[in-house]
Amino acid sequence: QRIFATPIPVWYCKKCDNVIVAKPEWLPVDPREQQPPIDSCPKCGSRDFLGESDVMDTWMDSSITCAVIAGWPDDVELFSKLYPNDLQPNGYDIIRTWDYYLLVRHLALFNRIPYKVALINGMVRGTDGRMMHKSYGNYIEAKEVVEKYCADALRQWAASGSTGYDIRFRWEDVDYAWRFLIKLWNASRLVIANTTDYNYSKPSKLKVLDLWLLTKLRRLIEQVTRAMEEMRFNEALDSLRNFVWHVFCDHYLEAVKYRLYWQSTVESKRAAQYTLTKSLYIILRLLAPFCPFITEEIYHAAFKERVGAESIHLTSWPTPSECEFDEDLEAKGNVVVATIAAVRRTKVRNRLSPGHPLRILWIGSSTFMDSIRIGAEDIKGTCRAQELVVVDNLEDGIAVNEYPEIKFKFEAERR
Ligand SMILES: [Zn+2]
Repeated sequence: QRIFATPIPVWYCKKCDNVIVAKPEWLPVDPREQQPPIDSCPKCGSRDFLGESDVMDTWMDSSITCAVIAGWPDDVELFSKLYPNDLQPNGYDIIRTWDYYLLVRHLALFNRIPYKVALINGMVRGTDGRMMHKSYGNYIEAKEVVEKYCADALRQWAASGSTGYDIRFRWEDVDYAWRFLIKLWNASRLVIANTTDYNYSKPSKLKVLDLWLLTKLRRLIEQVTRAMEEMRFNEALDSLRNFVWHVFCDHYLEAVKYRLYWQSTVESKRAAQYTLTKSLYIILRLLAPFCPFITEEIYHAAFKERVGAESIHLTSWPTPSECEFDEDLEAKGNVVVATIAAVRRTKVRNRLSPGHPLRILWIGSSTFMDSIRIGAEDIKGTCRAQELVVVDNLEDGIAVNEYPEIKFKFEAERR
């Protein structure tokens, strides 16, 4: 039995049981507290009335949501702009109640549909896959997750469910989200620390891996924007995390360190700084809906002064045209990145650190000669090779997984 809700505006005559329904001009009225504004029962003349004590069900109140959030009834101008609503988000458990009552009430009042799209989300299930219930003991409070990890980690977990499907709570997913935030934080610190002498001017020439990254980033902007528009939030988040973790951190950041720290020309360093700041700013804006706090923090540390907006959440959504692109160089960059990764893995397999200096590095390939030559400086710098020898064919070399035609071998400096 509900107590606080929209009253049912009806009274009963205590003498003859006549039902007195409120006239529209009497409303709003609460029959539990107010008498009907009539002198006596029109049927028997009694002055003794009993007000209805029941209240309407919850959907009577919420059936007006779309109009109210659009400013109705006070702000006619706002209402004309915001009605009907673009989006009505709710769980599948209230389709036949909320979504339905909204349609009924708004069609009755305005003769127009209340919302253009209903977004149906699934339910959260416990770690055991069952619905969360106190009696099952599988109940986890959001507060506990926020205290153990943080809101940005919980939010990523929530965004990782597919629209319309139930989502299971898993601590592993929150933990992964947390480690992703640490990765993003460390990468941002590296970018900030290495761009203090950079004035944001555009360099005259970008190198192969700069264009490789920007071309992939341009595609990421398109993918994430499309996924967000189609409300496939989990796909947007997946693409973003894969890009940041693997393309940006594992490959690009590692491959530009030598240009930032040592043995590099000013032009090459500036091109790396340009690409790093541009990429990070785009990444932060794409991530802002999923990780609003950490992206805001990094924005304030790295971009606010230059950009001017008070908050990252007031900046504009990235557009593909912000990124330079060159698909031919992207393909060549893929070869360079795979070769660098193969050399670094082989170093580790030989119990050398990835940064251990090499006296000489041989790379053999006829098919990908062009790519190797164009990325020679990056390969040499990132693999810490004092000398790089590129040949047509290297019979006794180790093959690069993704491009087995490319073979390499090296001689490491003594430890
Ligand atoms: Zn009566």
